Amino acid sequence: KKKVLEVKNLKVSFDTYAGEVQAVRGVSFYVNKGEAIAIVGESGCGKSVTAQSIMRLIPMPPGRIKEGEILFKGRDLTKISNKQMESIRGSEIAMIFQDPMTSLNPTMMIGNQIAEGLRKHQDLSKKESLKRAIEMLRLVGIPNPEKRVYQYPHEFSGGMRQRAMIGIALACNPTLLIADEPTTALDVTIQAQILELMQDLQKRLNTSIILITHDLGVVANVVQRVMVMYAGMVIESGLLEDIFYDAKHPYTWGLMRSVPRLDLEKKEELKPIEGSPPDLFAPPIGCPFASRCEYAMKVCKNYMPEYTKVNESHVVACWLEHPLAPKVESPVKKGG
Ligand code: SF4
Ligand code: MG
Repeated sequence: KKKVLEVKNLKVSFDTYAGEVQAVRGVSFYVNKGEAIAIVGESGCGKSVTAQSIMRLIPMPPGRIKEGEILFKGRDLTKISNKQMESIRGSEIAMIFQDPMTSLNPTMMIGNQIAEGLRKHQDLSKKESLKRAIEMLRLVGIPNPEKRVYQYPHEFSGGMRQRAMIGIALACNPTLLIADEPTTALDVTIQAQILELMQDLQKRLNTSIILITHDLGVVANVVQRVMVMYAGMVIESGLLEDIFYDAKHPYTWGLMRSVPRLDLEKKEELKPIEGSPPDLFAPPIGCPFASRCEYAMKVCKNYMPEYTKVNESHVVACWLEHPLAPKVESPVKKGG
């Protein structure tokens, strides 16, 4: 399989009056051609900052990429010029956000917004690009695209706006689509439809996807691999089944327990993870989850857990996986 994106040891900080916030602290991962991965974690874990670094959308200053490489088709995006980045952004890597209203132009017809991106990156006439805009609206499941193409964002419902955003993002047939909480603002039914659409388009267009979410529940049918982030680090990563059926990190267990389970007979109480993540002005020297972890041992507070391979695809950073650690079984029911 061919890697389209490879992030190596990415470190991103923000300089503030109070000091340096280490938002991303050595993150490494890759995405293959046509593959969808998820980055999951609570707000402030560094998942959005990671995505924005790939797109070079971090305000610099106060933000800065301290270290690391972001290799897209072999080119390091941290090293190319702004102009080169601009031609990649939108055409080869596209991004969609939680609230389409912030990225859609309220005074511009939807069709023109799709056509604008097409004309910027591809040499299409006005007529050709409008025709392509109608095709895109049809592709993302918007009814009456011939009529809808002449409407404005406020004439679309929330779900339809998110579909239109996906249409704009995919119009140039990007290699990689980054979706940052694309369904968080939508109700559950519409959320499921949008996720289904993304899954369908990924298969049809062979687009690689990075889905960023705080909700482990939304990734199940959409991605092949999951990485869990906590306090600016990847604390566990693996195939979807590694994470859903055989998670090893207590934080991942906590995320699993906070996902509503439709398959259980009795409705179980959802248990949010108690406490809050560490201060990234002065991150702890040991395991960043230690202050919230009910399994924390003495070693956890003093030494950062190393990455341990569970199997070929599954990696975890937790001292419980050390051969000398006491045996602990996952409290999350298997088969979730
Ligand atoms: Fe908990 Fe220790 Fe594992 Fe960290 S390393 S998650 S504190 S058991
Ligand atoms: Mg975010």
